[in-house]
Amino acid sequence: MCGIVGYIGHRDASPVLLEGLHRLEYRGYDSAGIAVPHRGRPRVHKAAVRVAELRDRLQTPMPGRIGIAHTRWATHGEATDVNAHPHLDASGRIAVVHNGIIENAEALREQLTGRGVTLVSDTDTEAIAHLIAAALDEGANSSLEDAVRSALGAVDGTYGLVVLDARRPEELVVARNGSPIVLGIGDGEMFIASDLAALVRYTQRVVYLDDGELATVRAGAFQTSSLQANTLQADRAAKTPTTVSLEAEDYELGEFADFMRKEIYEQPEAVRRALRGRLDDRFATTHLGGLNMDARQLREIRRVKFLGCGSAYYAGQIGANLVEELARIPADAEPASEFRYRNPVIDSDTLYVAISQSGETADTLAAVQELQRKGGQVIGVVNAVGSAIARECGRGIFLHAGPEVSVASTKAVTTMSLSFALLGALLGRVRDLSTANGKRLVAGLRALPERIEQILALEEEIAAAAREYAHASHMFFIGRVRGWPVAREGAQKLKEISYIHAEAYQAAELKHGPLALIDETMPSVVIVPDDELFTKNIGTIEQIRARGGPIIAITNAELPADLADTVIRIPGNEPELDPILLGIPLQLFAYHLALKLGRDIDKPRNLAKSVTVE
Ligand code: GLU
Repeated sequence: MCGIVGYIGHRDASPVLLEGLHRLEYRGYDSAGIAVPHRGRPRVHKAAVRVAELRDRLQTPMPGRIGIAHTRWATHGEATDVNAHPHLDASGRIAVVHNGIIENAEALREQLTGRGVTLVSDTDTEAIAHLIAAALDEGANSSLEDAVRSALGAVDGTYGLVVLDARRPEELVVARNGSPIVLGIGDGEMFIASDLAALVRYTQRVVYLDDGELATVRAGAFQTSSLQANTLQADRAAKTPTTVSLEAEDYELGEFADFMRKEIYEQPEAVRRALRGRLDDRFATTHLGGLNMDARQLREIRRVKFLGCGSAYYAGQIGANLVEELARIPADAEPASEFRYRNPVIDSDTLYVAISQSGETADTLAAVQELQRKGGQVIGVVNAVGSAIARECGRGIFLHAGPEVSVASTKAVTTMSLSFALLGALLGRVRDLSTANGKRLVAGLRALPERIEQILALEEEIAAAAREYAHASHMFFIGRVRGWPVAREGAQKLKEISYIHAEAYQAAELKHGPLALIDETMPSVVIVPDDELFTKNIGTIEQIRARGGPIIAITNAELPADLADTVIRIPGNEPELDPILLGIPLQLFAYHLALKLGRDIDKPRNLAKSVTVE
């Protein structure tokens, strides 16, 4: 959600900033802006337009080797030109870009108004610019960093921010509290961004700011310090950069028309990467080194609870099924957003699993922090290395899916379910999962990339099926047990990118209410795994058909002839792993349906890639 870019160095800043904003577009935004100082004042261009439009409007060059830029996702005040960032103080000296939410914004705005300051926007962010300017005025000789620290002392809420003082165009000050900020270290130049995507084309050496941290960034150096410390105590340090293996191409479309399809096609490779070094043939088990748990600790786990939001929550539900099946430990999944607010009982024998592609999902991060405060043991299942959840948990499973740009998640969800299969097998093999079953699963896991390739080869068939249902205004997605979270994720995908109302339901629950909705205008996508519940699922299909409902069956079994209107048959594997594979045709189904309806696949309305606000 929302994006920040900053630059200081030997190049013209504005092209770097605009390119950075362009790279962050995928996260979703409603307005964009840029500030580059000129003769002691920031020159600001901002508007409720796309980045390309902002670029077009900057006909006059903006010379200057330092600057900040932003894509906004409005939380306080509408998406208007005035509310776009950067925001300035009254004297027009300080410019601020901010991601996040200031919770005491109303109180701060009132205080400022009481002091005679005129606020020009409706945002929470603008107050920060005025507070920093006031702090600079009070301590005539204070550094920008001190002024920012002192101003933020009055601010409650979450922020990633960059501050520019146009009278000191040799430094930028950045701060982080709950919203990511990463520094990219160049050769005599520094990049600042809220997301690696904005800077990997310039440098692979990065420093992640931690929550509660502040940094002063100059062209050749940076120093971090704590937000809490006063000037004298500030323990200044230069953190050691880490090298990220991402390249600019990871964020490029190549031969594909959009990122969703590109990422659907990256799944065999993502799964191969996620399996690398994790399968153990000798002991018929798996290795998850990042868990840092020995067999005794694994055996002590009495319950597993998966926490995530949206698709990550549905993947968690697949995880819960896998852990129960393979390890016979009670397991369940809950939306992290519910968990964090309901004062849950935290149990020290439970392994909590926090799931997030970006590792920055605000609700999931808050759940992790709540767990840690109360002594719960929590691992992160995260794609973005260096992200807040990864660092907060300190241990877990990296997805290794590679950067995911499409808002509708595909390869991240698939590798999440895969990670849970690995976890389930690991927990099972230190309990009563037999060697033979361990071997069977390891072989099944190893076969996954090839099976996924076989499913992708069915794209044209799936596309044709999807196009046939583009007229529908509503659809059911039906599954039971293993197929139930698959149905939920399938419905989610369709909603997200096609805007068709899709509702997932447990197969056996249909007759307790929703069957009333079935008629010839209500297609049902039914998940039919080739497992012990096969005949039950056939029964469900019969019930729907008897009421005239069209059926699209997604299956890896052989179905009786003429049972369904459309059958998408994929290759089989070990039954426990079916949910991983059955989800993939549903991605293509949603994709082609949305394409037929002419939707903007990578930028679905009202949605953002990583939800860093509550
Ligand atoms: N809360 C700020 C605003 O509404 C920042 C939103 C964002 O993260 O883009 O302007």
